[in-house]
Amino acid sequence: MPSTATIAGNPGTFDLVVLGGGSGGYSAALRAAQLGLSVALIEENKLGGTCLHNGCIPTKALLHAAEVADVAREGSRLGVRTSCDGIDVAGVHAYKDSVVAGLYKGLQGLIASREVTFVTGHGTLVSPGVVEVDGVRYAGRHVVLATGSYARTLPGLEIGGRVITSDQALTLDHVPSSVVVLGGGVIGVELASVWRSFGAEVQIVEALDHLVPSEDVALSKALERAFRKRGIGFSLGDRFTEAKRSDDGVRVTLESGTTFDADLLLVAVGRGPRTADLGLEAAGVRLDRGFVITDERLRTGVTTPGGGHVWAVGDIVPGLQLAHRGFAQGIFVAESVAAASGVSPDASLPGGPREPAPVDEATIPRITYCEPEVASVGVTQARAEELYGADAVETLEYNLAGNGRSRILGTTGFAKLVRRKDGPVVGMHLIGSRVGELIGEGQLIVGWEAFPEDVASLVHAHPTQNEALGEAHMALAGKPLHAHN
Ligand SMILES: Cc1cc2nc3c(=O)[nH]c(=O)nc-3n(C[C@H](O)[C@H](O)[C@H](O)COP(=O)(O)OP(=O)(O)OC[C@H]3O[C@@H](n4cnc5c(N)ncnc54)[C@H](O)[C@@H]3O)c2cc1C
Repeated sequence: MPSTATIAGNPGTFDLVVLGGGSGGYSAALRAAQLGLSVALIEENKLGGTCLHNGCIPTKALLHAAEVADVAREGSRLGVRTSCDGIDVAGVHAYKDSVVAGLYKGLQGLIASREVTFVTGHGTLVSPGVVEVDGVRYAGRHVVLATGSYARTLPGLEIGGRVITSDQALTLDHVPSSVVVLGGGVIGVELASVWRSFGAEVQIVEALDHLVPSEDVALSKALERAFRKRGIGFSLGDRFTEAKRSDDGVRVTLESGTTFDADLLLVAVGRGPRTADLGLEAAGVRLDRGFVITDERLRTGVTTPGGGHVWAVGDIVPGLQLAHRGFAQGIFVAESVAAASGVSPDASLPGGPREPAPVDEATIPRITYCEPEVASVGVTQARAEELYGADAVETLEYNLAGNGRSRILGTTGFAKLVRRKDGPVVGMHLIGSRVGELIGEGQLIVGWEAFPEDVASLVHAHPTQNEALGEAHMALAGKPLHAHN
């Protein structure tokens, strides 16, 4: 059973010690405490981590402000006299910060109410099962590593001054007149979208052949068309070679010799695992290019003297670097620890503790919140054809032009479904304003291996964008209604 035994001069031995208070770490702490385990949560900066303070929430607040600016500009199209007279950057930050502050306060309250021992300071794993902070040792029967990630740069490209990462972009005190965005992945295109709506000239540089290159190529191409229409420039398949700073700006040169001049260069080339100098390798934790190697149950293979495990969750574990993946992994680890401690993660289940099922990486939904939004779950058409053979895969694109709600909102785009022939839907790929809100249904469909025929018979409310999913499945099931093809 859970225990908190005090050892001389130290705070005690906890059932669980969590290193890092971001999405992965705090969800593990909250769920473990909810299940009656004693928990210490160690955080050197702010509870909530990247997602709350430097990631998901502040960027989405900026994107919402950007949407309001666009709507204000376009009011006359709807017969409403509005205009965008400019961007009050301080006001935008005040709005964004108030959203973050409200959530931060709520999260602090939750941690306190669940009686998690919250420790502020830099922790290191001094031995399996022991994390030290400012000379104080916190022993855990189990330890969860959840130290997250940092914005990477390229060799020789130093961050500073006019060369920034998303960290500085989120607190910039002005709208730049022009920006080069290095990297056409999720963070790059989201910030490109914000700045364009705020009036900046934006040029994206992507070394691969498409924007959002990990998405189905149909979405990438549609986003490229939409960005071109919005006046967002991009160069594809051309690598960055150097950036030269001057008093007036920064000049970016690509392999082809093409140059771009701008006020600022945003480096958005991905995020590296924050695992250096934490004592991990000395404690026996295996790393690969800094990422923590785990089995599918997120165990590092290192055991503690108390008979528990050292676990890892979130961005330090190879895979999608997304907050909801971290939340799910944190909950999974907490429930696994509870089960190993004789506590049933689900009190309603008869028969005592059970091992929870690992997080299914294949059905984690992905959203890129630029305008238009890009959302997907499951496999792309190309991946499905690799897995099952091109002849065994069927696809369907349902154009949002046939969707009343999308017409009202003035958005174009489509829903693309990928199914195994005579089998379940294995991928859903969406593009259009607000389609991120639809991907929850997509996850249920792909996760539960639904057939288009199953979904076709479900009634979708009219007029919603959600209805487009119903229509797409009806069409794929061979009974299209509002479809011209
Ligand atoms: C600009 C941007 C936008 C994003 N938008 C989205 C989005 O819309 N949706 C989405 O799902 N994901 C988004 N992400 C990704 C998301 O933020 C991360 O996947 C998520 O925060 C990872 O959670 P984590 O717990 O692994 O790490 P983190 O949230 O990074 O938390 C790790 C914590 O550990 C602490 N820490 C590190 N080392 C130590 C130590 N030695 N001692 C004590 N504390 C330590 C850090 O201070 C930090 O608070 C975005 C990221 C960025 C940068």
